[in-house]
Amino acid sequence: MESPTGEITPLAPPAERRANLRDHMRARHEAGNTCAACTGVCCTFVANSMRITPVEALDMKNRLISEGRWTPELFATLTKTVERYGLDRETGDGRRSLRKTYTCPFYTPGPRGCSIHPDHKPYGCLAFNARRPGITEGGDCASSIHELENREAAFPNEAAHNLALKTQHRLYWDKAPIPVALLALNAT
Ligand code: SF4
Ligand code: SF4
Repeated sequence: MESPTGEITPLAPPAERRANLRDHMRARHEAGNTCAACTGVCCTFVANSMRITPVEALDMKNRLISEGRWTPELFATLTKTVERYGLDRETGDGRRSLRKTYTCPFYTPGPRGCSIHPDHKPYGCLAFNARRPGITEGGDCASSIHELENREAAFPNEAAHNLALKTQHRLYWDKAPIPVALLALNAT
């Protein structure tokens, strides 16, 4: 499997880097705030604008390779998503870009929701949870910024790995929509 090279200390395993987010998610679920009754609008064009770093993209890529899913069929699906939602065309006022929404290619309608293993899922996906029980169409969910910040602080060498991947794959972005980020790791 691919791994960033250089003089930087090795990245902690994907599961370790997501442990606090998964604990937080588990606690929310134990409190009854599950997503079981929801259609999963946070993964569709209705509300999803998830962007990921190169390290997160590499985590997903490695998982997809291990599951035999890093295939030309997947690349075609990713490309179709990029084209359909114009994800390769940033808009904005020149100082900041506006995030575009899209239906995630890994979204599966129904209770399962997402086909990516939680140990390799984007951090932002894990941090976004229901704030009360019984939600059916989103509307009362939030991202735990606190847990995301804790996670980032616990793995300070991740920034150097992101930089190394940017150089290695000649990326112009720090974060990109999931399909854009995965296709970029396949292109170079
Ligand atoms: S990776 Fe999974 S949880 Fe994240 S947006 Fe895609 S389908 Fe949803
Ligand atoms: S309840 Fe909220 S976090 Fe859960 S699947 Fe629905 S929109 Fe997403």
